[in-house]
Amino acid sequence: MPIRLYNTLTRTKEEFVPLDPANVRMYVCGPTVWDYAHIGNARPVIVFDVLFRLLRQIYGADHVKYVRNITDVDDKINARARSEGIAIGELTERTTRQFHEDIAALGVLPPTVEPRATQHIAGMIAIIERLISSGHAYVADGHVLFDVPSMPDYGQLSRRSLDEMLAGARVDVAPYKRGEMDFVLWKPSDAETPGWDSPWGRGRPGWHIECSAMSWQHLGEEFDIHGGGIDLVFPHHENEIAQTRCAFGHPIMAKYWMHNGFLQVEGQKMSKSLGNFLTIRQLLDDWPGDVLRFNMLRTHYRQPIDWTLQSLQESRRVLLNFQKHYTPGLDRTYGPEAPVELIDALSDDLNTPSAIAVLHEMLAAIVKLERANDPEQHRVRNRFSNALRLLGFANLDQLQHRGMGNLDKAEESKVDFLIAARLAARKAKNWAESDRIRDELAAMGIAIKDNKDGTTSWEVKR
Ligand code: AMP
Ligand code: ZN
Repeated sequence: MPIRLYNTLTRTKEEFVPLDPANVRMYVCGPTVWDYAHIGNARPVIVFDVLFRLLRQIYGADHVKYVRNITDVDDKINARARSEGIAIGELTERTTRQFHEDIAALGVLPPTVEPRATQHIAGMIAIIERLISSGHAYVADGHVLFDVPSMPDYGQLSRRSLDEMLAGARVDVAPYKRGEMDFVLWKPSDAETPGWDSPWGRGRPGWHIECSAMSWQHLGEEFDIHGGGIDLVFPHHENEIAQTRCAFGHPIMAKYWMHNGFLQVEGQKMSKSLGNFLTIRQLLDDWPGDVLRFNMLRTHYRQPIDWTLQSLQESRRVLLNFQKHYTPGLDRTYGPEAPVELIDALSDDLNTPSAIAVLHEMLAAIVKLERANDPEQHRVRNRFSNALRLLGFANLDQLQHRGMGNLDKAEESKVDFLIAARLAARKAKNWAESDRIRDELAAMGIAIKDNKDGTTSWEVKR
């Protein structure tokens, strides 16, 4: 089955035909490293990791190049570094390291290249010079601006009206701009602000030009897939297209544009003021990374996700059940047999909910074969384990959480509370209450054992 992907550029699901199947190329906008990444930032990282794995499976690991950048020059970074009284390099080193630790725990493969914006300033200047000399950009008041009316088909990706574009871009009304929609390619830096020498004086790049330069350097003037969150369609991706196409004169920048939907928490937009802002790091304190990854993949990438405690608990329950039938490492007898049904599900615009349904079907088949003592169970089990590995669950056998059994914090404190209440009931010789609590714990899947020394230990039986 060929891969089909929804292309934001055409608003249709299209068959994926790479420009060069021996060199499949994908660029995804990475994080701006100024603070811990939140769980919404993890969504594109996980979604495009699944696509990377699928492409490697189909075209071969050596024939796929995945570039995901680090934005390490940005005014948010400058402001944070100033408030902490440290150099921007120190801040971005620290936050990049934190980002790497977080996403490694989510089972994400490193991209082929992870370029940093600060290492591509020369490429940015080269593109801007091309844009100026071809009449698509102009210098004004120490700034260089992209001349939007110079590109007749500007706006193809977002398909917005001029009014909508103006509202979406939150354009600054600046006296040096020729047109309202014109956007910054280069801006001047004062003595306190980081800057680089350029033909237009000491300054720093605008945000959009960074990705045009990094994708050009590592993937070329045209490539296959460009991805990011839905919020990036406008203005970021629209402006990347404008810069790259006008600098190099091609009808496309990337053939397929893919965007993940937004993540919200318990039905609300995530925000610091609502107190529902979740960093990946905080979540990893309470949940194994595999559970976070699985919870992300239960929703199709284009749909919004509602991230809830209940869905996390459900994800953990399902994964624990999968774990019981998972074989770590390759089964030598059956080898790397490809899980065809799972690949088909992913090939349909990365349909991870249907890939998970395939896993449930395989599991049901394994259980049936086990009951019948049928040796075919080993083959299905091998395919099931390969399927889980393809989805990025390589270490399911280590899905133990803090050595305490497989409970989250809330459940753990409930167990502690019930055990204390039961000990108190026993002390008061209230045997009926003590038995009732034992039954309540059993219903939660907790088996308890009274020890000779008067203490009680417990283990998770589910
Ligand atoms: P940023 O660090 O803000 O540039 O964002 C990095 C990536 O995370 C981009 O692809 C964004 O589109 C994506 N992103 C940010 N917030 C969310 C969210 N709440 N849900 C899904 N994706 C998000
Ligand atoms: Zn970008």
